[in-house]
Amino acid sequence: MSIKKTLYSPVPDWAKSGPKKSSQYGWEWIVLRDIKRCVYCLKDLSVNIDGILSITQDHLFPTSLGGEEYLANIVTACIICNRLKGHSTPDPKNWKSRKTYIQACRELIDIEREARIKRFKKYIGPRPSEVFDSKDSFHQGYL
Ligand SMILES: [Zn+2]
Repeated sequence: MSIKKTLYSPVPDWAKSGPKKSSQYGWEWIVLRDIKRCVYCLKDLSVNIDGILSITQDHLFPTSLGGEEYLANIVTACIICNRLKGHSTPDPKNWKSRKTYIQACRELIDIEREARIKRFKKYIGPRPSEVFDSKDSFHQGYL
């Protein structure tokens, strides 16, 4: 009896085509291609230093699932969208094109953002200095 082993590569074709990241096509090339924006929330990350510092490299199709260093698979993302996206991938029905994949990622990110807003809403509000008495010994020198 033989066991048939099939290798199924889930990596979409668009994520493994064209040139790979190289000295010729490096990170700066990608930042310019993506016009210094987060491809998910479309925020212009070039407006100030915090924006610049929040630019991260995101693999559209995660490396944890076999995504590679193809330019088509690497985008600029703000650190918030990148964290919200994590290693998640949209439903495979959205994998047909890079465009539908990115759109589906935006929806995943929005869902995760809403979930976290619900979870962390209690922390949004007055600043600690407005809540705690400045003479409170526990908080003195802490905030
Ligand atoms: Zn973003």
